[in-house]
Amino acid sequence: MSAEPDMIPGIYNYCDRWCERCAYTSRCLQYQIESEEDQSGEALRDFDALNAQFWQDMGEALVHAMRLIRELAEREGIKPEDIEKETLFSEHGVSLHHTAREHPCAHAALLYSGMVNDWFAAHNDYSGAEESLLTSPPQVLEEHFQVIRHYQYFIYPKIVRAIEGRMAYPVSAHQDSPQNDASGTAKISLIVIDRSLAAWSVLYGEYPVYEDKTLSILVHLDRLRRSIEVVFPSARAFIRPGFDA
Ligand code: SF4
Repeated sequence: MSAEPDMIPGIYNYCDRWCERCAYTSRCLQYQIESEEDQSGEALRDFDALNAQFWQDMGEALVHAMRLIRELAEREGIKPEDIEKETLFSEHGVSLHHTAREHPCAHAALLYSGMVNDWFAAHNDYSGAEESLLTSPPQVLEEHFQVIRHYQYFIYPKIVRAIEGRMAYPVSAHQDSPQNDASGTAKISLIVIDRSLAAWSVLYGEYPVYEDKTLSILVHLDRLRRSIEVVFPSARAFIRPGFDA
């Protein structure tokens, strides 16, 4: 595998498994083995460049999402420094669980999947539209809906895996080093949460009638993001092959 000069060894270990949106298909052996089409290296590189631009644009939407969450919190009278402190553990501490699936972050991730379904169901009920947003989103928002749907069920299993890893090899916060599987898995969870937040922040302005539901989702995801950072303080520093180095 690593004898292929352009391939990045292990890049597929900490990716989001969304090959259609990946900027590294031309350098991923997993993709090239699984891809049914035999595409030239040049075609794959063009495809990768388009996807790199897509994620760059989403990064700008994330900045907007963070600003939006803080503005909304301030409107509620919450100070910025208090938002940063608020996590799923604010009341009960970090270690009230026996298995990874019982962990508050896992619960919150599962709850998020249901909140997404509720949001789409509310739209169908309210609009009475014959065509669901799931199958026929407005073209201008299609990519944001794709991001939400692609990651809806991705976050929970990743968080469970990260917590299982941490439970198998517990470390204290000051011993935590970034290059371990639990941190890498937590990092990809954080990245897809960031991207989901960015997509929801765009929908917030587009669907004022569901403003409350969208806001609940934004606040929930933001809290989950911060909570994962508490459990895996080094996760953001994990270097994913190809993506970060
Ligand atoms: S690194 Fe990219 S191309 Fe490879 S499996 Fe992951 S998402 Fe797909």
